[in-house]
Amino acid sequence: MAIHQFDAIVVGAGGAGLMAALYASRGAKVAVLSKLYPSRSHTGAAQGGIGAALGNLEEDHWQWHAYDTVKGSDYLGDQDAIEIMCREAIDVVLELEHMGLPFDRTPDGRIAQRPFGGHSRDFGKAPVRRSCYAADRTGHMILQTLYQQCMKHNVTFFNEFQMLDLIIEDGVCKGVVAYDIDTGELHTFHSKGTLLATGGWGKCWSVTSNAFTLTGDAPAIALRRGIPLEDMEFFQFHPTGIYKMGFLITEGVRGEGGILLNKDGERFMERYAPTMKDLASRDVVSRAIHLEIHEGRGIDGKDYVYLDARHLGKEVIEKKLPDIAEISRVYLGVDPVTEPIPIQPTAHYAMGGIPTDVDGRVILDAQNTPLYGLYAAGEVACVSVHGANRLGTNSLVDLVVFGKRSGQHMARFVREIDFQELPLEAETATRTELTRILANDTTQETPAKIRNELQRTMSRGVGIFREDAGMKETIAKVKELKERYQKVGTDDKGRRFNTDLLEAIELGNLLDIAEVTATCALNRTESRGGHARGDYENRDDDNWLKHTMYRQTPSGEAEIFYKPVVITTHQPKERKY
Ligand SMILES: Cc1cc2nc3c(=O)[nH]c(=O)nc-3n(C[C@H](O)[C@H](O)[C@H](O)COP(=O)(O)OP(=O)(O)OC[C@H]3O[C@@H](n4cnc5c(N)ncnc54)[C@H](O)[C@@H]3O)c2cc1C
Repeated sequence: MAIHQFDAIVVGAGGAGLMAALYASRGAKVAVLSKLYPSRSHTGAAQGGIGAALGNLEEDHWQWHAYDTVKGSDYLGDQDAIEIMCREAIDVVLELEHMGLPFDRTPDGRIAQRPFGGHSRDFGKAPVRRSCYAADRTGHMILQTLYQQCMKHNVTFFNEFQMLDLIIEDGVCKGVVAYDIDTGELHTFHSKGTLLATGGWGKCWSVTSNAFTLTGDAPAIALRRGIPLEDMEFFQFHPTGIYKMGFLITEGVRGEGGILLNKDGERFMERYAPTMKDLASRDVVSRAIHLEIHEGRGIDGKDYVYLDARHLGKEVIEKKLPDIAEISRVYLGVDPVTEPIPIQPTAHYAMGGIPTDVDGRVILDAQNTPLYGLYAAGEVACVSVHGANRLGTNSLVDLVVFGKRSGQHMARFVREIDFQELPLEAETATRTELTRILANDTTQETPAKIRNELQRTMSRGVGIFREDAGMKETIAKVKELKERYQKVGTDDKGRRFNTDLLEAIELGNLLDIAEVTATCALNRTESRGGHARGDYENRDDDNWLKHTMYRQTPSGEAEIFYKPVVITTHQPKERKY
């Protein structure tokens, strides 16, 4: 049994984890654990850009960015956190530039910016150019830049190490238990500060833009350790996923002027959002596509519509959207220069997650009581800046701003305290679970079978539109799948690279997260942002202007309580686009 000791442990090597590790490393000995090689993290897939009110091409202010974020969140975002994010985004983007991030440039050499869904000038008057980008590979560039910086600052990496448990005792987090994928050995990581940055859980749904590995490991583990999860009913469906496959076509295509068409060749977004049109916020556009399809105006009566970029011309497409052109040609055999791209909404982004304060400390209740030594940042965390719906480009901002703040706070925190003694048998529960799964055979249940059923029931019952009966059916089905999960076995019984075993464990996490999502969705009897109910069509501020907190009691019962929304400047108004 290997035991490692570091002041700070960061779990996850996406944008959030690397930014936190980089800042923590300025005052502490830091290690990053990642189940993937760092540059394979999903941040590398981010295409569209990172929003910051630099005002390089036209007037812009962080207060306008904050207003758009609050409105986009359908007034559920905490405005104190949103103000911090939009204000600090400006300096952090410049900092990334100085670290060497190769942004596209304006003719006079400043960072280029383009319009993006939901981002406007002067409190909603017209679209504004706010998204800073490096072609359609912004996330890739962020990841490479931060990884280099972490190497330079002597951050230690444990690549292909999968966290399987958190060590929490007497209200203090003391580290994590992780599995070395190469050798099959368990390792204990003893720390003063631990940060969770494991990204999202789009794999709960059948059609998703998310990578195979986005299985909600950290929130599932946190839940089992008594930590509440916040606003889990809010999951974003991105309007433009490649038909049937879900791979993302960035909003940048519409930012550059691409438009959506139904089977009649009609630019239908003009009806749903007269001002912002195709650049209305994602929940609005996804619902519009869903309704067009539902009412028989999908292409050839099927469940997709067209994203048309032909009028942008070959040069713009090849230069500004090269990866999109390639994805479309390779996976669909469609050349966006000459043909419209078949698209449908795709499960994309978790607005909810592990609740934190603005310094990334994980909190336990409505009074913001922190759990000592535990932090979270990035998509896995809920600060909450995205509320009920996230604007495009605001995830990358969230990662770098709150990743940095968490890293800075951890560096201070670990200087002030000593290592707390580890419990004697920190890894026993994990070892027992691994042994249990390995002892099962595959004659009864396999991870793939249960995962497919889970994804189907979630897509049907807790997708873009939700209704009482469908959600209840999904909850019952997930409970049945959880029972069957106890019998899941693996063909591979070995130790080296037993991905069968890890997939089985990840499925256990997906099942827990799906149950929480469906339960919170059924509980919220209104429509807001990404949570659209056919049976409660309106937003209900009198009863529901509050965050859902879901906790599992020690006896395994579900408990829901609430946390007030922080409102500073913008009182809730009806959203018009
Ligand atoms: C296709 C696509 C395009 C996007 N485009 C944009 C965009 O243009 N602009 C924008 O703002 N947002 C965009 N987003 C959203 C944004 O990219 C993500 O929300 C963000 O990158 C998440 O970053 P993260 O650091 O939280 O986690 P990730 O980058 O997802 O990284 C998660 C890390 O956690 C590790 N990990 C997970 N589980 C474990 C475990 N059990 N043990 C150890 N390690 C673990 C993984 O190895 C990985 O290193 C896009 C998302 C997708 C899917």
